[in-house]
Amino acid sequence: MVWLTARRLHEALAGRVLTRSDVRVPRYATTDLTGRTVTEGVARGKHLLIRVEGGITVHTHLRMDGSWRVRPAGDRIAPSHRIRLVLANDTWQAVGYQLGIVEVLPTAREASVVGHLGPDLLGPDWDLAEATRRLRSAPARAVGEALLDQRNLAGVGNLYKAEVLFLRGVDPWRPVGDVAGLDALVDLARRLMDANKERSGQVTTGVWRPGEQTWVYGRAGRPCRRCGTPIRSADQGETAERVTFWCPHCQS
Ligand SMILES: [Zn+2]
Repeated sequence: MVWLTARRLHEALAGRVLTRSDVRVPRYATTDLTGRTVTEGVARGKHLLIRVEGGITVHTHLRMDGSWRVRPAGDRIAPSHRIRLVLANDTWQAVGYQLGIVEVLPTAREASVVGHLGPDLLGPDWDLAEATRRLRSAPARAVGEALLDQRNLAGVGNLYKAEVLFLRGVDPWRPVGDVAGLDALVDLARRLMDANKERSGQVTTGVWRPGEQTWVYGRAGRPCRRCGTPIRSADQGETAERVTFWCPHCQS
C-alpha cells in the first residue's frame, strides 16, 4: 500500500512546480512550498518522503487510518477536517487524509526519521542477511512481534506477518531463536508483498474472490483453509496493529 501510494505521489508531483501547499498541522501552518519543484516521492518502509527542491522533505506516515488521494487539479475537493496536507500543481492535487505523521524537515536530516529502519522489503537496497541478523539479535522475542518491529525490517504489516507465519507453519509466539528457516520466512514475506505492491488489495491465497484472499488474517473463528480448525486471534506486542491470527493446528 505504501509503496503504491509513493509511486502515485511521485507520478503526480515529481518534476512539477507546486502551485499550492497547505500543511494543516499547527507547527507547519506557515510553511509554504509554492513555487518549488518536487523532485521525488519515495517510500521507506511505511514512511513516505516527498522531496522538494531546496533540500526540503515532507515526511508523512499513514499509521492506522491515513490515506492519500490524487485528483485532477480542477476537481473540487470537499472540505474536511480530516485533511492534513494538500500539495498541488497545475495538473494534479494530492490530498492527505488523517495522516499519522506530517512533518517538514531538511532532506539532509531524513535519517533522523527513517534512519532507524531495518532493510526495506520493497526497497532497492533490500538486504536479507542484514534483516535476519537483526531479527536474530533478540532470540527470545516472539517472532510475530519481531517481524512487525520496523527496526528489524521495514515494511511488514500485520496482514503479511500473520500470513507468512501460517504459510511457514510457525506459531506467532515461538521465539525467533527457535524458528528454523528464518531466511525463507522473511524472503516469502518479501515475495508476497512484491506480488501485491502494484494493487490496492492484498491477496496471499492467489484467489481474488472476497472472503478468500487470506489464509488466517481477519478470519478469527472461521475454519482453517487447510485443516478446518477454527482460526484464533489474540493481541500480541505493543504496536497499534497488535491483533494476530493463527491456526493452532497448522502452526507450532
Ligand atoms: Zn489449520
